[in-house]
Amino acid sequence: MGVLIKTKGLVQGIGFRPFVYRIAVKHGLKGYVRNVGDGTVEIFVEGGNIESFLKELRNAPLSQIEKMDIREEKDRGYEDFVIEKSTGERKEKGAIVPPDIAICDECLREMYDRNNRRYRYFFITCTHCGPRYTIIRKLPYDRENTTMDEFAMCEDCEREYKNPVDRRYHAQTVACGECGPEIFLIKDNAIIEKGEEAIRRAAKEIEQGHIVAIKGIGGFHLAVDAQSDKAVGRLREMYGRPSQPFAVMVRDIDSAERIAYIDDLEKKLLTSFSRPIVVLRKKGEKLSRFVSPGLHTIGVMLPYTGLHYLLFDHLEIDAIVMTSANHPGNPILKDEKEMNKIDADCFLIHNRKIHQRCDDSVVRAVNGRVSFLRRSRGYVPLPLNVHINFKRDVAALGPELDVTICLLTGNKAILSQYIGNTSKYDTLEYLKDCLQHLCRLFGVEPSVIACDLNPAFETSQLAREIAEEKGTEVIEVQHHFAHAASLIGEHGLDESICIAVDGYGYGLDGQAWGGEIIYAGRDFKRMGHIEYFPLIGGDRATYYPLRVVAGILGKKVEDWLIERKNSFPHGEKEIEVIMKQRGDILTSSCGRFLDGISALLDICHYRSYEGEPAMKLEAAAASGREALDIEPVIKGDKIMVKEIFEEIFENLKRYRREDLAFTAQKYIATSLAELAIEKADSEGVKNIGISGGCAYNDFITTEIARRVKREGLNFYQNEKVPCGDGGVSFGQGIYCGIMRMD
Ligand SMILES: [Zn+2]
Ligand SMILES: [Zn+2]
Repeated sequence: MGVLIKTKGLVQGIGFRPFVYRIAVKHGLKGYVRNVGDGTVEIFVEGGNIESFLKELRNAPLSQIEKMDIREEKDRGYEDFVIEKSTGERKEKGAIVPPDIAICDECLREMYDRNNRRYRYFFITCTHCGPRYTIIRKLPYDRENTTMDEFAMCEDCEREYKNPVDRRYHAQTVACGECGPEIFLIKDNAIIEKGEEAIRRAAKEIEQGHIVAIKGIGGFHLAVDAQSDKAVGRLREMYGRPSQPFAVMVRDIDSAERIAYIDDLEKKLLTSFSRPIVVLRKKGEKLSRFVSPGLHTIGVMLPYTGLHYLLFDHLEIDAIVMTSANHPGNPILKDEKEMNKIDADCFLIHNRKIHQRCDDSVVRAVNGRVSFLRRSRGYVPLPLNVHINFKRDVAALGPELDVTICLLTGNKAILSQYIGNTSKYDTLEYLKDCLQHLCRLFGVEPSVIACDLNPAFETSQLAREIAEEKGTEVIEVQHHFAHAASLIGEHGLDESICIAVDGYGYGLDGQAWGGEIIYAGRDFKRMGHIEYFPLIGGDRATYYPLRVVAGILGKKVEDWLIERKNSFPHGEKEIEVIMKQRGDILTSSCGRFLDGISALLDICHYRSYEGEPAMKLEAAAASGREALDIEPVIKGDKIMVKEIFEEIFENLKRYRREDLAFTAQKYIATSLAELAIEKADSEGVKNIGISGGCAYNDFITTEIARRVKREGLNFYQNEKVPCGDGGVSFGQGIYCGIMRMD
């Protein structure tokens, strides 16, 4: 008797077939393994211990087997076990392309083994590890279709590549010091060191307080000594980032534990093959105070390539700032010809081309679950399974900031890497390039383009241009409907009440929405929201949140504002003008509400990066407790805000700022939960979820979850796609699937 096995999931491009070969031989089996069209691997075995073979197969390293069909068949009389040539052109849509994978333990062990021929070779990889997505030009995933095609294998590498029992059998990234990519240190436009000397010198430069640009897997990083105020301060000045937090790379998990608290989930994330930046709670200020000023958290990652490990070998310090080398809003830089856009004292570069740019992923544990701030390197382009069957392909272009794009085909959604701020020319070009690349890679031909309802976004403009050129349909999706759709799409829900809370989204009535209670299911409806309050000066109020305070409290705070006149670019005169305005732009934004509280508590008067006032409010509240007992004030479908601003204003001198920050967060969380529960009751809906940028606030999400569950309802949050605007493209696509296509 034989067995035919078909497996689906991430089983191609990660050494799955050699693994199958090894265990088949080990258990005395005969037959074959081969890749077939759509990301399926087919295995036939007979004549040995099939039971124990299957047991080991289910525990294959790295593979995420989604489906395994096993069928008994007649013996076929194979004489041995073979890896057969791939069949099919892999034209079928939604084939699985592996993400970039951190160096594996086995490669690491070899890199430190004096007797190994890859001893201290910085680009050591195998079938289980190394770059994938960033180097693949097209499918099938063969060497000639990757940027490794420029490196002809030496005899030794080729022998491993062709040997089915070797763990580098068909490893497209196989290389060694003889034949593979090389590394250089460039200073003042000249190569000054090569090989390990280049790495040693780069480490010295970092320790001397210099800024070193390092070419990595998905683009250039800037590295500086994370302990040096001078070095970190200089980096901030040069890149016009006065206070946006920098991520740090630390030597190992012990070093991470010295600067931050790490729970089991966080540890699992830090050490996973995706190696994201994990936002952790700081343990005091052990690094330079300029690394993440004013925040209670710090973004930490572990080394993920041989090069990173070798760099730490030459460093005495345990933590370096590692931030992408582009200026704010622009795409991560990847080519040598883009080096002129980087301000650094020297460049540690290698000569393997990067085909697709890819930033580091950023995650945070929120309410004890994984929350993606950025889903990029290590995760992209792994598809997400969805409960809708897309008969027509959809390309969704996202909103404006923190943009990703998403392709939807069949029952899969392919979410792109983080692209960024598409109001910048280079970033929009990056988006176009990425769209073309992903469509080609996955054989997707969109006939529907989804975009934001806001006609002013570049992505909305692009959607119209594509439609004109290719005759595709355009579907505009309201921003918070997209957030809500992302939640039901991710969890496969029929319907849910969704609390969609963020900074800004163009509303159906033309106002700036951002604190919404949405029904998402058969259709999408706004059920309630934070009451509108004026944004005096529109966008200026997002940069100067004292304007939010002025808009809500009016004359009452005039003298108080005058005491803070230095926080206004035009001082007292500006306050005078503000007092006369009532603001034409109204908002129901939860983000602006939190910003306003942050300004009222003198925590943050100026926003130098997206989300800053609200993040600093959360940091302050983290060491606070409840000061005032304020019940939610809900009138009809609206959550009132004036009352809480007044209470806090009147109690500014009576309580600690941390306690008032806590109180305000609790007020908004409680109110949102209460209104959502009321709407779930009236609609007979059993599910409540939260999405939008404010859902990154651990306190708010945890508090809402607690109240929802206490009512016996199910609670959901985004765990596979970002809850912020990086998840909007996915939501736009799901919305199209629900509303326009059956
Ligand atoms: Zn490896
Ligand atoms: Zn070689």
